[in-house]
Amino acid sequence: MSGTPYDLAVVGGGPAGLAGAAAATRAGLRVALIDGGARLGGQYFRHPAEGLHAANPAGPHHGFARFTRLREGVSERAEVFTRHRVWSVERGEDGTVAVHCLVGDREERPRAITARRLLIATGAYDRSLPFPGWDLPGVLTAGGAQALLKGDLVTAGRRVVVAGTGPFLLPVGAGLAAAGARVLGVFEAAALPGVARRARLTPGKVAEAAGYALTLARHRTPFRGGHAVIAAHGGTELTHVTLAQVDADWHPLRTRVIACDTLAVGYGFVAQLDLPVQLGCATVPGADGDPVVAVDAGLRTSVPGVYAAGETTGVGGSELAEVEGLIAGRTAAADLGRAVAPAPALSARRDRLAAFAAALARAYPVRDGWMGWLRPDTLVCRCEEVPYARVVEARELGARDARAVKLLARPGMGWCQGRVCGHAVARLAGETPRPPRRPFAQPVRLGDLAASGAEPSDERNP
Ligand SMILES: Cc1cc2nc3c(=O)[nH]c(=O)nc-3n(C[C@H](O)[C@H](O)[C@H](O)COP(=O)(O)OP(=O)(O)OC[C@H]3O[C@@H](n4cnc5c(N)ncnc54)[C@H](O)[C@@H]3O)c2cc1C
Repeated sequence: MSGTPYDLAVVGGGPAGLAGAAAATRAGLRVALIDGGARLGGQYFRHPAEGLHAANPAGPHHGFARFTRLREGVSERAEVFTRHRVWSVERGEDGTVAVHCLVGDREERPRAITARRLLIATGAYDRSLPFPGWDLPGVLTAGGAQALLKGDLVTAGRRVVVAGTGPFLLPVGAGLAAAGARVLGVFEAAALPGVARRARLTPGKVAEAAGYALTLARHRTPFRGGHAVIAAHGGTELTHVTLAQVDADWHPLRTRVIACDTLAVGYGFVAQLDLPVQLGCATVPGADGDPVVAVDAGLRTSVPGVYAAGETTGVGGSELAEVEGLIAGRTAAADLGRAVAPAPALSARRDRLAAFAAALARAYPVRDGWMGWLRPDTLVCRCEEVPYARVVEARELGARDARAVKLLARPGMGWCQGRVCGHAVARLAGETPRPPRRPFAQPVRLGDLAASGAEPSDERNP
């Protein structure tokens, strides 16, 4: 590797990465902040392009003032590389890290950015569960519907059903209703009394939930616990869904049909682990059982010089992500010999927020009853078009884990490399999801792969 390495490369410009870059630059580090998106902000701070935003400054984005403060702190001192999709990271013998990116939109160019330390803050993505009809046009993830609304000011449909499990359904339903969609219901699979008992809501969180509930009530949108959408129907596009009242394990008790053109469905989030796993960072089961990066109190991973913050270390919301970013940025600076005053209050805040996140994960478990919603022809893996019957066949042939099912039936072998079906295939195979093994975090052309030893560039993104 050649060129002058940055002190710290931060991959991910969401709350965690922004805070990490801001803290590290404040402590005197030379920082490269890298994100695949066109704008910084990640998921929570997602906002539309300048023109659209100026036309609708009070739009549906969250915490915009907080974002503006963080971004100003970062862009004054760090070098920002947006539209840089990181497909691989490599650590040299001297500990220097090469971050391999693809730059641009259509005509992507390869670029490598080197740094002495690396902070991975790549966030999480929607956890999907298969059910009959989930591949129909008109069915999308709750996160997808939210991203369309916040990033493009577009409501995903006109007559929308929101379903799944987890607190995220509330902002999605409320946001769509406030933006003019007719939201026919927000259906939470968990029973609401159990949620209230386990969630350990703080007064701030109660107020936030009450705000969403008020918006739903204002738009006459029902919010029901113990209900799940177990099938979607339509010829070429979604026309209606089957809604079931479900028992504690999500087995249907009674069903009814709702006519709609859009279903936004979400079962929580899964940590984005491709880059840390590439580097050999240890993982542990998170509060919901899915793997997350293992970190110490300073957000150091098991690999020297590599830090992780935000939802890569466990799904816990934007405040926790931001606090973790601050801690990780400060730790990286201290490890590089900069004078950084201890901040016990930050650690205490992280512990409080992480305990709350763990309580929420326990309040919204994904129950195995969803497996009973599947029919033999329900696609489990959409990329390779693997129906449930083939997964059952693989099990009958003796497959006892996701890897064996994959070898026999091919789920997870397609374009998304199991990002969408990975959780479901693991559970259908009878195991807890394991960390992914993807040599590439993003699709990459063979030519770019061959050129990945290219000279690092110090060309800066405007
Ligand atoms: C689709 C979606 C929508 C969400 N919307 C909301 C919401 O409206 N309200 C809410 O409270 N919570 C929302 N969340 C939850 C949200 O993830 C967290 O609350 C918060 O944004 C987490 O912060 P983070 O910094 O850990 O990750 P993120 O905010 O997810 O930021 C991660 C960043 O890393 C970048 N990245 C990832 N991989 C790469 C790569 N290989 N190369 C380059 N860049 C990469 C991404 O582009 C992204 O900008 C949403 C989650 C998802 C998945």
